[in-house]
Amino acid sequence: MNLSERLSAAKLRREGFEDVPGPDVDVESAEPVHSPGWGKPGPCPRCTTMGEVDFIDLVRAITSQHCPSCGFEWVLSRADFDALTS
Ligand SMILES: [Zn+2]
Repeated sequence: MNLSERLSAAKLRREGFEDVPGPDVDVESAEPVHSPGWGKPGPCPRCTTMGEVDFIDLVRAITSQHCPSCGFEWVLSRADFDALTS
């Protein structure tokens, strides 16, 4: 099924045609992957709640994050991340 056919089928399903076949993806068995990586949200250094990325500066290779729980803000450079995870 190409992209055009998948979009048409999705549109029909949204319009109530439930017998239209969906994509062949088993979303029930899919598990989220939480691998650490530079540029991804990391745990808050203060309370360990998962942070939220505010911005990624690719030129300076830094990630700015904040904690949605305690409000702590921190910056993690790629060099620091590599040193912490190697
Ligand atoms: Zn926190």
